[in-house]
Order: sequence, then C-alpha cells, then structure tokens
Amino acid sequence: MKKIIGLDLGGTFIKIGVVDENGEILEKTELPTPQGQGRAQVIKVMSESINNCLNDSSRGKFLGIGIGTPGLVDEDGKVFLAPNLPDWNNLNLKKIFEEKFSIPVKVENDANAITWGEYKFGAGKGYDNIICITLGTGLGGGVVLNGKLLRGTKYSAVEMGHIPICYKGPKCGCGNLGCIESYVGAKYIVRATQEKLKKQDSLIKDMVGGDITNIIPKIISEAYHKGDKVAEAVWVEVGTYLGAFFSGLVNLLNPQVIIIGGGVAQVGEILFSTIKKVIDERSFSLLAKEVKVVPAKLGKDAGIVSAASLFLS
Ligand SMILES: [Zn+2]
Repeated sequence: MKKIIGLDLGGTFIKIGVVDENGEILEKTELPTPQGQGRAQVIKVMSESINNCLNDSSRGKFLGIGIGTPGLVDEDGKVFLAPNLPDWNNLNLKKIFEEKFSIPVKVENDANAITWGEYKFGAGKGYDNIICITLGTGLGGGVVLNGKLLRGTKYSAVEMGHIPICYKGPKCGCGNLGCIESYVGAKYIVRATQEKLKKQDSLIKDMVGGDITNIIPKIISEAYHKGDKVAEAVWVEVGTYLGAFFSGLVNLLNPQVIIIGGGVAQVGEILFSTIKKVIDERSFSLLAKEVKVVPAKLGKDAGIVSAASLFLS
C-alpha cells in the first residue's frame, strides 16, 4: 500500500505522520514550532522531521508530502500572510521541499486541508457538497463543491472566518468590521460571558475562583453541562450567530452537510441543534431541509491525516 507523509504546521506545534491510502496513521510525532528564530529554523525542523519519516522506509513507496499551513496558499504552493508565523510570507514551501527531497509536495491552507480530509475520511465522506469549519481561537473553514475543493482565482480562498455578518459590527483582527470570527472566536465568547457575569450570578465565577479573567471556553462548556443558565445563554447566542452565518452559506451553496470541529465545538449538542434551528428558520426551506449539521470526525490527528489526503483525489 502506498504511503503519504502528512505535515500539519501550527503556530505552536508541528505534527507529522506517515499515513496510508485509507487515512490510517502508521506513525506520528509532534514537535514544538520554533518561536522567534525566523522561518529558516521552522523549515529546518520541518525538514528534519520529514527526513525521519522518509528514512524509516524506502522512499519509493511514498506518494508525496502533504503540508497544511496557516495563511493563503497560491496554486504554485507559495504561502502568504500567515497570522501566527510572522515572517511566513511569500514563501514557496512546495519548491523548497521538492528540491530537498525529490518527491512531489502539495501545500494547502490548513483549513482547506482539514475540509478535504473530512471529505475523504471523516464526516463528509459520501457527500459531494460540504462546508467544514474549525472553531477555536478563530474560525477557519473550507468548502467542497461538486467533489472539488473550492479555491477561487489564485489564492486559497476560503477565508470563511472573515465573512461579515454585520456591516457595522465589532472590529476584527483582519481590519474589517463584523466578521463572524469576531462573534464566535474563543476570546469573543469569553468576553460575552464576562459581560453577562456582571449582571447575573453563575457557577462560572466559582469555577475560576472568582477571577473572571481565567475564563476559557472549556469552562463555559463544563458550566453548561452542570446546568448553568449563563453558560446556556452564551452557547445559544454563539449557535445563533453561527446559524445566521450558515443560513447565508446554505442559500449560496446548497450543501448537504455542515461539519464543525475544533475545541469550541466540544460543548456538543446545544451548539449543533441551535445552529440547525436557526438555519431552518432563516434559509430557504427547500435548501435547509437538505442540510445536516454534524461534528467533525477526524479528531486530534485531523491535521496529519488531512495534509496527507491532499494526495488523494
Ligand atoms: Zn475579519
């Protein structure tokens, strides 16, 4: 069976593994992403970890190296504007690694890669039209339309977190106003919770020892599962923003399934059912009827499997 190397580059960790054609991970490892030492050091660590994978077996058996990276990625494998890797700009990762290892390399924006991975091996398997998002610090996402990853003219598209849902909403990190990310990104969920706690009592205060600066989405999730009303209101609000956002995408794309992964989505059913309810209320009923809202399936190794899946059409 053919093997592929999948490398998931993050601002904190580099995750790499050897994956077979069925999406099974044969081996994997995780290294910290070098901080503050420039991109040459990051490329060096990536190269060493790829080299270790290649040396384990004969190089001829590998289909190639798939890489998921933050930032926009053009059709030649060049990366632009990666937010958490400051000098990760105008960098042709495909060329660098193809020259170094003499095997094919595919580079894709990390959220697009995850979307392709969920389509091939996860919750999108068996469908032709999917939307996939990862909810965490920000909102990343991708679209598969008629069995093809949606990529736009030249750059990776789909910067889904930066679609505005309000023309005069809060200022987003990207400079625009009212982006969906500025309503449902982790720090905004925390801020909304802190605001509610000024007016209402909640378990959340006890859970952070009275210091509301220690709130993280996981605590709001735990409080919800213990029956806390403030936490419930927060998750209904987040689900309502996302539902309004997706109702536009449902009208635009007529997807069969919306897949949601990432740490913030761990709260579970309340988020999924609220999103589905709002889509049913707001988008065209014929289109809303078609669409399911489901959790991502690939789990914590999604980045590795997805990067490798770039080699599977
Ligand atoms: Zn934005």
